[in-house]
Amino acid sequence: MSDKTIFKKIVDKEIPADVVYEDDLCLAFRDVAPQAPVHVLVIPKTTSLRSLDDVTADAQSLIGHIFVVIQKLARELGIAESGYRVVSNCGENACQTVAHLHFHLLGGRGFAWPPG
Ligand code: 5GP
Repeated sequence: MSDKTIFKKIVDKEIPADVVYEDDLCLAFRDVAPQAPVHVLVIPKTTSLRSLDDVTADAQSLIGHIFVVIQKLARELGIAESGYRVVSNCGENACQTVAHLHFHLLGGRGFAWPPG
């Protein structure tokens, strides 16, 4: 039986996703249950990082790259001017449900603070 996460299956094109950006290091696709008019997940392709808690100094350039991609996507998806939120749920208390590092890019509406 496969122990791949759903996100690894999306990276490997085993299941479909609405991909908005892809390069050698990362993939961005629309969330299947969007919480805002724009809700994109940006993930590294590597499976070595299950959450932010796995990130070490070795991953600095990868994480920096992902944030440059997030900024580019925010501009392309038309939410840069109005503002957007980037979220990475890490662990049980933060409601992380997929054990593959991912960043939610949310925009197109106003958000409350603090989050629930
Ligand atoms: P988490 O709760 O781990 O921070 O976020 C996981 C996200 O993945 C959720 O927002 C959920 O809607 C999304 N998700 C789960 N399964 C799929 C899927 O098969 N396809 C897509 N595009 N998103 C998914």
